[in-house]
Amino acid sequence: MKNAKECIFIVEDESRIRRMLRDFLTLKGYYVLEAADGEEALELFYENNQIIDLVLLDVMLPKLDGYGVLEDIRTMSEVPVIMLTARDSEQDQLDGFDLGADDYILKPFSNAVLLGHIEAVLKRSSVGVGSGKQQTIGLLRVDSENKRVFLHDKDIGLTAKEYSLLTYFLDNQNIVVLRENILNQVWGYNYVGDTRTVDTHIKQLRSKLTSECAYIKTVHGFGYRFEVPEEE
Ligand code: CA
Repeated sequence: MKNAKECIFIVEDESRIRRMLRDFLTLKGYYVLEAADGEEALELFYENNQIIDLVLLDVMLPKLDGYGVLEDIRTMSEVPVIMLTARDSEQDQLDGFDLGADDYILKPFSNAVLLGHIEAVLKRSSVGVGSGKQQTIGLLRVDSENKRVFLHDKDIGLTAKEYSLLTYFLDNQNIVVLRENILNQVWGYNYVGDTRTVDTHIKQLRSKLTSECAYIKTVHGFGYRFEVPEEE
Protein backbone atom coordinates (compact mmCIF):
# COMPACT_ATOMS: atom_id res chain seq x y z
CA MET A 1 0.00 0.00 0.00
CA LYS A 2 2.61 2.57 1.11
CA ASN A 3 6.12 2.51 -0.34
CA ALA A 4 8.11 3.73 2.62
CA LYS A 5 6.75 3.59 6.13
CA GLU A 6 5.63 6.98 7.33
CA CYS A 7 6.66 7.84 10.85
CA ILE A 8 4.09 9.02 13.39
CA PHE A 9 5.27 10.48 16.67
CA ILE A 10 2.78 9.83 19.49
CA VAL A 11 2.94 12.16 22.48
CA GLU A 12 0.51 10.95 25.16
CA ASP A 13 0.98 10.49 28.90
CA GLU A 14 -1.73 7.88 29.45
CA SER A 15 0.02 4.58 28.80
CA ARG A 16 -3.22 2.81 27.93
CA ILE A 17 -4.06 5.28 25.16
CA ARG A 18 -0.43 5.41 23.98
CA ARG A 19 -0.33 1.63 23.68
CA MET A 20 -3.65 1.55 21.84
CA LEU A 21 -2.45 4.19 19.37
CA ARG A 22 0.88 2.42 18.86
CA ASP A 23 -0.71 -0.98 18.26
CA PHE A 24 -3.30 0.38 15.87
CA LEU A 25 -0.93 2.56 13.82
CA THR A 26 1.71 -0.17 13.64
CA LEU A 27 -0.96 -2.52 12.37
CA LYS A 28 -1.84 0.07 9.71
CA GLY A 29 1.75 0.08 8.48
CA TYR A 30 3.13 3.19 10.15
CA TYR A 31 6.42 3.41 11.97
CA VAL A 32 5.78 4.76 15.46
CA LEU A 33 7.80 6.75 18.01
CA GLU A 34 6.43 7.56 21.47
CA ALA A 35 6.88 10.05 24.27
CA ALA A 36 5.05 10.21 27.60
CA ASP A 37 5.55 13.85 28.63
CA GLY A 38 6.27 17.25 27.12
CA GLU A 39 10.01 17.31 27.82
CA GLU A 40 10.60 13.82 26.48
CA ALA A 41 8.55 14.83 23.44
CA LEU A 42 10.89 17.69 22.57
CA GLU A 43 14.03 15.61 23.19
CA LEU A 44 12.82 12.81 20.94
CA PHE A 45 11.51 15.22 18.34
CA TYR A 46 14.84 16.99 17.95
CA GLU A 47 16.68 13.66 17.74
CA ASN A 48 14.31 12.28 15.11
CA ASN A 49 12.82 15.25 13.29
CA GLN A 50 14.30 14.15 9.96
CA ILE A 51 12.14 11.03 9.89
CA ILE A 52 8.95 12.19 11.64
CA ASP A 53 6.07 12.73 9.17
CA LEU A 54 3.32 13.62 11.63
CA VAL A 55 2.90 14.32 15.36
CA LEU A 56 -0.12 13.22 17.39
CA LEU A 57 0.05 15.57 20.34
CA ASP A 58 -1.99 15.30 23.52
CA VAL A 59 -2.83 18.67 25.09
CA MET A 60 -2.76 17.76 28.79
CA LEU A 61 0.75 16.46 29.47
CA PRO A 62 3.08 16.44 32.49
CA LYS A 63 6.12 18.79 32.61
CA LEU A 64 5.21 20.79 29.50
CA ASP A 65 1.73 20.78 27.97
CA GLY A 66 0.88 20.15 24.34
CA TYR A 67 0.68 23.87 23.48
CA GLY A 68 4.19 24.38 24.86
CA VAL A 69 5.48 21.43 22.85
CA LEU A 70 3.77 22.69 19.69
CA GLU A 71 5.14 26.20 20.14
CA ASP A 72 8.67 24.85 20.46
CA ILE A 73 8.34 22.49 17.50
CA ARG A 74 7.02 25.35 15.32
CA THR A 75 10.17 27.42 15.90
CA MET A 76 12.01 24.98 13.67
CA SER A 77 9.60 22.65 11.89
CA GLU A 78 6.45 22.68 9.75
CA VAL A 79 5.75 19.00 10.47
CA PRO A 80 1.99 18.30 10.49
CA VAL A 81 0.61 18.24 14.04
CA ILE A 82 -2.74 16.83 15.13
CA MET A 83 -3.77 17.80 18.66
CA LEU A 84 -5.59 15.25 20.80
CA THR A 85 -7.80 16.86 23.36
CA ALA A 86 -10.45 15.96 25.87
CA ARG A 87 -11.36 19.62 26.14
CA ASP A 88 -13.75 20.77 23.53
CA SER A 89 -14.09 24.50 24.04
CA GLU A 90 -13.69 26.51 20.88
CA GLN A 91 -11.12 28.72 22.59
CA ASP A 92 -8.81 25.77 23.25
CA GLN A 93 -8.98 24.82 19.62
CA LEU A 94 -8.31 28.36 18.47
CA ASP A 95 -5.30 28.56 20.82
CA GLY A 96 -3.88 25.46 19.18
CA PHE A 97 -4.53 26.74 15.68
CA ASP A 98 -2.86 30.04 16.53
CA LEU A 99 0.22 28.04 17.47
CA GLY A 100 0.12 26.18 14.19
CA ALA A 101 -1.74 22.91 14.79
CA ASP A 102 -3.00 21.35 11.56
CA ASP A 103 -5.99 19.55 12.99
CA TYR A 104 -7.82 18.50 16.14
CA ILE A 105 -9.25 15.22 17.34
CA LEU A 106 -11.53 15.23 20.36
CA LYS A 107 -11.20 12.41 22.88
CA PRO A 108 -12.61 9.87 22.98
CA PHE A 109 -12.22 9.01 19.29
CA SER A 110 -12.60 5.86 17.24
CA ASN A 111 -9.76 4.30 15.25
CA ALA A 112 -11.61 5.08 12.04
CA VAL A 113 -11.84 8.78 12.89
CA LEU A 114 -8.18 8.83 13.90
CA LEU A 115 -7.07 7.20 10.67
CA GLY A 116 -9.25 9.51 8.59
CA HIS A 117 -7.62 12.59 10.12
CA ILE A 118 -4.09 11.18 9.84
CA GLU A 119 -4.50 10.25 6.19
CA ALA A 120 -6.07 13.60 5.32
CA VAL A 121 -3.34 15.61 7.04
CA LEU A 122 -0.54 13.52 5.52
CA LYS A 123 -2.07 13.83 2.08
CA ARG A 124 -2.45 17.59 2.42
CA SER A 125 1.15 18.00 3.57
CA SER A 126 2.66 15.84 0.84
CA VAL A 127 1.20 17.08 -2.45
CA GLY A 128 -1.75 19.38 -2.22
CA VAL A 129 -4.77 18.91 -4.42
CA GLY A 130 -4.17 17.78 -7.97
CA SER A 131 -0.86 19.62 -8.42
CA GLY A 132 -1.75 21.15 -11.76
CA LYS A 133 -3.87 18.31 -13.07
CA GLN A 134 -7.51 17.66 -13.75
CA GLN A 135 -9.31 15.65 -11.15
CA THR A 136 -12.69 13.97 -11.35
CA ILE A 137 -14.75 13.72 -8.19
CA GLY A 138 -18.15 12.17 -8.67
CA LEU A 139 -19.77 14.20 -11.45
CA LEU A 140 -17.39 17.11 -10.99
CA ARG A 141 -14.23 17.86 -12.92
CA VAL A 142 -11.77 20.06 -11.08
CA ASP A 143 -9.17 21.98 -13.04
CA SER A 144 -6.76 22.97 -10.27
CA GLU A 145 -4.46 24.92 -12.58
CA ASN A 146 -7.19 27.37 -13.56
CA LYS A 147 -9.20 26.94 -10.37
CA ARG A 148 -12.36 26.06 -12.24
CA VAL A 149 -14.92 23.35 -11.59
CA PHE A 150 -17.09 21.75 -14.25
CA LEU A 151 -20.34 19.83 -14.09
CA HIS A 152 -21.32 18.17 -17.38
CA ASP A 153 -18.53 20.22 -19.00
CA LYS A 154 -20.08 23.48 -17.91
CA ASP A 155 -18.11 25.82 -15.61
CA ILE A 156 -20.15 26.19 -12.41
CA GLY A 157 -18.59 29.60 -11.72
CA LEU A 158 -17.15 29.32 -8.23
CA THR A 159 -15.70 32.38 -6.51
CA ALA A 160 -12.14 32.10 -5.19
CA LYS A 161 -13.45 31.45 -1.68
CA GLU A 162 -15.93 28.81 -2.82
CA TYR A 163 -13.15 27.12 -4.76
CA SER A 164 -10.90 27.09 -1.67
CA LEU A 165 -13.76 25.70 0.36
CA LEU A 166 -14.34 22.92 -2.16
CA THR A 167 -10.64 21.97 -2.30
CA TYR A 168 -10.57 21.85 1.48
CA PHE A 169 -13.42 19.32 1.33
CA LEU A 170 -11.64 17.35 -1.39
CA ASP A 171 -8.58 17.06 0.84
CA ASN A 172 -10.79 15.87 3.70
CA GLN A 173 -13.26 13.55 2.02
CA ASN A 174 -15.38 11.18 4.10
CA ILE A 175 -14.45 12.68 7.45
CA VAL A 176 -16.37 15.11 9.61
CA VAL A 177 -14.82 18.55 9.54
CA LEU A 178 -15.69 21.07 12.23
CA ARG A 179 -16.80 24.55 11.23
CA GLU A 180 -13.89 25.96 13.24
CA ASN A 181 -11.41 23.88 11.24
CA ILE A 182 -12.92 25.06 7.97
CA LEU A 183 -12.81 28.66 9.13
CA ASN A 184 -9.16 28.40 10.14
CA GLN A 185 -8.00 26.51 7.08
CA VAL A 186 -9.96 28.39 4.42
CA TRP A 187 -10.22 31.89 5.90
CA GLY A 188 -6.98 31.81 7.89
CA TYR A 189 -6.17 31.96 11.58
CA ASN A 190 -6.35 35.72 11.72
CA TYR A 191 -9.78 36.03 10.19
CA VAL A 192 -12.14 37.87 12.51
CA GLY A 193 -15.52 36.35 12.00
CA ASP A 194 -17.59 33.46 13.18
CA THR A 195 -18.63 30.08 11.91
CA ARG A 196 -21.82 31.44 10.35
CA THR A 197 -19.54 32.68 7.57
CA VAL A 198 -18.79 29.04 6.83
CA ASP A 199 -22.47 28.12 6.75
CA THR A 200 -23.26 30.98 4.38
CA HIS A 201 -20.54 30.01 1.92
CA ILE A 202 -21.48 26.36 2.08
CA LYS A 203 -25.04 27.28 1.20
CA GLN A 204 -23.76 29.14 -1.88
CA LEU A 205 -21.42 26.32 -2.83
CA ARG A 206 -24.19 23.74 -2.48
CA SER A 207 -26.47 25.71 -4.74
CA LYS A 208 -23.78 25.88 -7.44
CA LEU A 209 -23.04 22.17 -7.11
CA THR A 210 -26.79 21.61 -7.53
CA SER A 211 -28.79 18.72 -6.13
CA GLU A 212 -27.02 16.42 -8.61
CA CYS A 213 -23.83 16.84 -6.60
CA ALA A 214 -25.20 16.95 -3.06
CA TYR A 215 -21.86 15.78 -1.69
CA ILE A 216 -21.67 18.15 1.28
CA LYS A 217 -23.57 16.57 4.15
CA THR A 218 -24.48 18.41 7.33
CA VAL A 219 -23.43 16.58 10.49
CA HIS A 220 -25.61 18.15 13.14
CA GLY A 221 -23.77 19.53 16.12
CA PHE A 222 -20.34 19.10 14.47
CA GLY A 223 -19.92 20.41 10.97
CA TYR A 224 -19.85 18.86 7.53
CA ARG A 225 -18.74 15.79 5.67
CA PHE A 226 -17.92 15.65 1.95
CA GLU A 227 -18.94 12.32 0.53
CA VAL A 228 -19.34 11.07 -3.03
CA PRO A 229 -21.67 8.07 -3.31
CA GLU A 230 -19.90 4.81 -4.30
CA GLU A 231 -21.63 4.44 -7.66
CA GLU A 232 -20.27 7.78 -8.92
CA1 CA B 1 -3.07 13.60 28.79
